[in-house]
Amino acid sequence: MSINSQIIRELAKQGGFQLVGFAKAEILKAEHDNLLSWLDQKYHAGMQYMERNTDKRSDIRKILPSVKSVISLGMNYYTKNITENKKPGYKISRYAWGKDYHIVIQERIKFICEEIKKNDPEAELIYYVDTGPVMDKVWAKKAGLGWMGKHSNIINRKIGSWFFIASILVNRELEYSEEVGDLCGSCTRCIDACPTNAIVSDQVIDSNKCISYLTIENKGEIRWEFKGKMEDYIFGCDICQDVCPWNIKFSTLSGIEEFKPVNGNDKITFDEVNEMDITEFNRRFSESPIKRAKFSGLMRTAIFLSNNQ
Ligand code: SF4
Ligand code: SF4
Repeated sequence: MSINSQIIRELAKQGGFQLVGFAKAEILKAEHDNLLSWLDQKYHAGMQYMERNTDKRSDIRKILPSVKSVISLGMNYYTKNITENKKPGYKISRYAWGKDYHIVIQERIKFICEEIKKNDPEAELIYYVDTGPVMDKVWAKKAGLGWMGKHSNIINRKIGSWFFIASILVNRELEYSEEVGDLCGSCTRCIDACPTNAIVSDQVIDSNKCISYLTIENKGEIRWEFKGKMEDYIFGCDICQDVCPWNIKFSTLSGIEEFKPVNGNDKITFDEVNEMDITEFNRRFSESPIKRAKFSGLMRTAIFLSNNQ
């Protein structure tokens, strides 16, 4: 039996995904041009991996030659912080409060793929969770999960933008979802709120200026021009999403336990940073996305922030 959209919707729900949609596999010509222009302007900063596989990013047949469709999945990670009133400290981006989403989503997406294979043994599938040369946000948009906000995140009108995106490439035709129109309208709150002016035009982020990049992927020192502008973020940045009216109105709590703050990781107090050594870093963040910054990266940012006035 061949798989169909209804079965996949059911499986996605069982796997804990709030959002699922289907897009016809096609060449992403306009998006490819946008990517090249973004790279040309060096907006990818030190993320050299973005320069690789641009052909695969625009033509997913180079990843899976038989591909017919992309299944786009969204998993809400919005949870409440637990250490709001604790001693003062540095901020962490909400997506990193709990267990690493790669681990959490991988388990669930694997379940979906295995179930699809049980229904349809000839199905060929490749999945990605924010890794690999796939333009997840573009596929999420095409699959009707939402529209791309001016801050470049996908916004769903029912739950806002606090969700992770995963993609499954499959060699089956499905019932395709309708794209959602852009509902940002004349709003510019995210652009106005960004403390480092990293949103250089609608949906275009200059990573060289983005606190998220500066605190996570960036391997070098943080430049002096960002003194006093980091708003105490030591890992990532949520400012443009926090101010978005769609999040203010429609964020709903995630039911996924693993995304709730682990080890108090919704904040790192000043004392905790001062006392942290590499052993404690490895212990505390062993299953957290924060380990991506490495001990040296976290300490670099902490030192920068501590001289931040
Ligand atoms: S994540 Fe922060 S620094 Fe980056 S664009 Fe959004 S508000 Fe600006
Ligand atoms: S803050 Fe306004 S402009 Fe920015 S993404 Fe949200 S709705 Fe769009």
